[in-house]
Amino acid sequence: VPPEIAEIERTHIGLYQDFPQPGVLFRDITPLLRDPKAMKSVIKYWASTVPGDVDLIVGTEARGFVFGAPLAYEMDRGFVPVRKAGKLPGKPTSLTYDLEYGSATIEIAENAVPKGSRVLVLDDLLATGGTAAATIKLVESLGAEVVAASFLIELLGLGGRDKLGDIPLHTVWSIQ
Ligand code: AMP
Repeated sequence: VPPEIAEIERTHIGLYQDFPQPGVLFRDITPLLRDPKAMKSVIKYWASTVPGDVDLIVGTEARGFVFGAPLAYEMDRGFVPVRKAGKLPGKPTSLTYDLEYGSATIEIAENAVPKGSRVLVLDDLLATGGTAAATIKLVESLGAEVVAASFLIELLGLGGRDKLGDIPLHTVWSIQ
């Protein structure tokens, strides 16, 4: 990581202990979002670290949207949102996955990802990997190929990496 990009992690990512629940050190990306210069540097660098030969970028609600759309724009690729259940019109494809307590359902629009397309799956942060693994499974269920997964932040030591199987992982900041 170039020094100026490493510096942005220190200056533009907020830290909140015990949010949204006790024991969690929450990383707040909103200071980065409101600084256009830092945001441009990060998106440009991020685009240089991921495979360019993808057809689509798939991002997960909600922070995967605020990074996925500009990254897709920078890479001149289309962006497809994966949404929480009940938000997409038409006949979306759904997938339900287990959370620590209960379960969650995510959806992707019909005909959004053609069979055989090469997809980059993206989110702001990789923690336990549950969200990313579910998103990958959903995209693969459409007959598309997930060629890589990418995150602005990887929290090391939570096992997220291991949940992604053989899919290559690209992260801007890997931190403890
Ligand atoms: P996981 O499924 O455990 O990998 O969690 C990933 C999702 O939860 C991402 O969409 C993150 O935005 C959010 N998330 C998990 N842990 C944190 C954290 N420490 N700080 C900020 N966001 C988090």
